[in-house]
This record gives sequence, C-alpha cells and structure tokens, in this order.
Amino acid sequence: MPNLISTAVRAAALAAVLAAGSAAAADAPAHWTYSGPTGPAHWAAEDEAFATCGIGKAQSPINIEKAVRKDLPALEFSYTAFPLTVTDTGHSFQVNAPAGSGGFTVGGDHYDFAQVHFHTPSEERMHGRRYSMVAHIVHKNANGELAVVGVLIRKGKANATLAPVFDNFPAEGTKETAVAGTSFNIADLLPENHGYYTFEGSLTTPPCSEHVRWFVLKNAVEVSGAQLAKFQKRYPMNARPTQPLNGRLVQESK
Ligand SMILES: [Zn+2]
Repeated sequence: MPNLISTAVRAAALAAVLAAGSAAAADAPAHWTYSGPTGPAHWAAEDEAFATCGIGKAQSPINIEKAVRKDLPALEFSYTAFPLTVTDTGHSFQVNAPAGSGGFTVGGDHYDFAQVHFHTPSEERMHGRRYSMVAHIVHKNANGELAVVGVLIRKGKANATLAPVFDNFPAEGTKETAVAGTSFNIADLLPENHGYYTFEGSLTTPPCSEHVRWFVLKNAVEVSGAQLAKFQKRYPMNARPTQPLNGRLVQESK
C-alpha cells in the first residue's frame, strides 16, 4: 500500500497548494520577480505558500550533466488544434489549452495538455549551457499530477508555429489576446526526434510544488533573433537559477 498512501498524500499536498494559490490570488497575489529583493533567493519568504521554493529537495530547473541511458518508453503525443488565445501572466506569455486539446502518453500514463509558456534564457542547462529560450508544455493527469515537456529553443530561423503567438503578445496592461481565425497546434512546435531526458522536479515558479515529472527533449527548435527580441522586450529574463540535484537521477532515452 505505500504507493497508494504516497499518491493520496501527494494529491492532498497539491490540492492544498492549489487552494492556497487561488486564495492568495483572490486577495493580493504575493509579489515575486526574477531579480532583486523579491527574486528567486527570496521567493520562500514572500508567502507561506511558497515555502517549498526554499526547503524543497527536488526543485527545478536543473543542469543536465550526467544521465543514465535506458530503454525508456517513447513519448506518444496526441495534440489537437484549437483557436489561439495568448495570455500575459505577468511572468511570461502563455497559451492556455481548452479541455480536450489532447496530450501525451508515456509508459501507459496519460497527461492532458494544460498550457504552454516560455522562459528566456532556457531554465534548463545542458552541460552548464543555457539555450536562448525554452517552451514548457504543462500537462495534468486525471489525479491532478503534473508533467512538463521542455522544448529547448536556440536562435536561428524564424519559427512558423510560434509566429501567431509571438505576433500577438497582449499589449502592455492587457491580459489576453484572442487571435481570430488562428488554429494553433503545439504538436507543430516539437522537434522531429522525441528523444528525451527525464527526472523528478517541481514547478520553476512559486509555489515551486514538487512531484512534477519532467521530460526535456534532447533536440532543440529555433526562433529568429527578431522573435526572441519581441519576447525579451517584455520579459528580458524570466529564468530561475538551476537547483541542486540532491541525489536525483536523470535518465536519458536511447
Ligand atoms: Zn516554465
């Protein structure tokens, strides 16, 4: 029964975190930033609900240095297109997926696509190196457990899939842009090869909740310098520093 108990504890912890998050949002949302006195080193002190940011032992992002190559199950993506709406969260630009937008399955576990957002530079480091950006495709399963697929992005050719997103960032002071007539499919952002690194981690933003399954694709995609500049005009730096592994194992698909 230990598995059942731990699942129940995790679900209760996640529910508590989500409840605390929405309560905070209803009053005055705790202020946090990527630098200065409310930057990453101070997140845990900003709000009781953010304690995990300071005391968590399986925090994200990480530097992917050593990985154990294994015969891991393939990521089976099954995304569908939907009308595009771009949201400014105050910490990044995000595309929320309506229910029924597909998701992915790995080793029999299915996760539904919830939202995709972006960081610059990439939060994950590969052998110490950051990419220009990363897309975090956030998923949730029927138990409310999270899995994030990370797509690293380097500067290069313009990205046609991201063009309708990057061309429609909400104007300053506007929360959301609905892009009429645009159908968006996150499947089109994925690199051809779906080889991946996987590890246990957390949300990389407060409340830094743990028990998040991470899948970082080994192959990067590209955005143009102009696309990168558009994002950085509003969010010049929205990457949390990499966190200690604390003995966590990174596995790599063959
Ligand atoms: Zn993220």
